[in-house]
Amino acid sequence: MKLSAKDLIKFIDESPSCYHVINNLAEELRNAGFVEIKEVQDFKVERNKKYFTTRNGTSIIAFDIGNVKDDFSFNIVASHSDSPSFKVKPSSALVNQSYSKLSVEGYGGMLCAPWFDRPLSVAGRVILRSKEGLDIKLFNVDRDLLMIPNVAIHMNRQANSGYAYNFATDMQPVLALGSEGKIEDIIAKELKVNKEDIISHDLFLTNRQKGSIWGANNEFVSSSKLDDLECAYTSLQGFLEGKNSDNINVYCCFDNEEVGSTTRQGANSTFLEDILKRIVLGLNYNEDKLYKALSSSFMVSADNAHAVHPNHPEYSDALNSVYMNKGVVIKFNAAQSYTTDGLSCALFKEICARANVPTQTFTNRADLRGGGTLGNISSTHVSLLSVDIGLAQLAMHSCYETAGVDDIKYMGEALKAFYSTSIRIDNDKILLK
Ligand SMILES: [Zn+2]
Repeated sequence: MKLSAKDLIKFIDESPSCYHVINNLAEELRNAGFVEIKEVQDFKVERNKKYFTTRNGTSIIAFDIGNVKDDFSFNIVASHSDSPSFKVKPSSALVNQSYSKLSVEGYGGMLCAPWFDRPLSVAGRVILRSKEGLDIKLFNVDRDLLMIPNVAIHMNRQANSGYAYNFATDMQPVLALGSEGKIEDIIAKELKVNKEDIISHDLFLTNRQKGSIWGANNEFVSSSKLDDLECAYTSLQGFLEGKNSDNINVYCCFDNEEVGSTTRQGANSTFLEDILKRIVLGLNYNEDKLYKALSSSFMVSADNAHAVHPNHPEYSDALNSVYMNKGVVIKFNAAQSYTTDGLSCALFKEICARANVPTQTFTNRADLRGGGTLGNISSTHVSLLSVDIGLAQLAMHSCYETAGVDDIKYMGEALKAFYSTSIRIDNDKILLK
């Protein structure tokens, strides 16, 4: 399949906030013949047609019904649209010592150090007063606008010996000299609207550094937000190319994974449950058909994994450690923060093997607690057999992360194969074709 690191970098560079991520995914789906069906509409869906729906402008579910028969089930892949950053506060004009700063607070568990001394900007959405009511506008300042400057080593001699960053004092970005810098003025100018019509906003700091392909053999790709836009983008490509006449293919990208998913559009909402139910009812079946379909359905939760660190291999498990460009990672955790079990691993591994895509297995070191992800959270609403996978990367939750160039294609191919596989799960037997 045609899928390169350059394509991924372009997608991420054009998606500075989760609002832009979903907008761009929707655009790509529209171009591929998918029809938008809004949650406020009647869900009249038909076989051989493809649809997508969004919630809050930050989560999306697309589905390709194909020419399925009565005994269909769902092939689902889920990733997330958000990444750790800093959110601009509602009242954001901080003025002290002749500087205007933006007042921000942390979103998700980021590494703080990489945010210093690099050009930043803001992106997200702005809510404007209109004649009819409220208008929601995507917003991105496409120029270097902000900086969080380090304290010089001469003033903080402890800077290189472990420094505890304070979000309220250390992480506030500078916007202007003097008291003239206000985000409302910038919004009004950029969107060409009256300042009085700006009612509210959801804006996040963005790293202005573009993605890069590097290394002696161009084997690495670095960018902001590889977690989890690498999975969001590659799974979309797999979804667009996969064809299935037995199962309904479903593509999901959820917001708010970095803050626990407990929002109306997160993986811990009813979004997926609602849409699957509405597909079944829309095809003129009853609710029992939904449960029948779910019992034979399979979900892939796609979120990146930690590659062995070049300077700190000791943080990885001695046996279940993973490397960039060595294929799709299958993630295990005995406490089930990852949903993978022997059965779901075997099923996914077999699909990859048939498509000649290499796989590797990951667990955290037994004395390290890793992060959670979407799969087990979503499973509390839509309970089905599922596997947690991802691609190996370095510096997770930095604002500039690193992954392997070859893995992009591996993930696209693996998920294309998954979406093209007819899966029938019958308790003690799984049929694949
Ligand atoms: Zn993630």
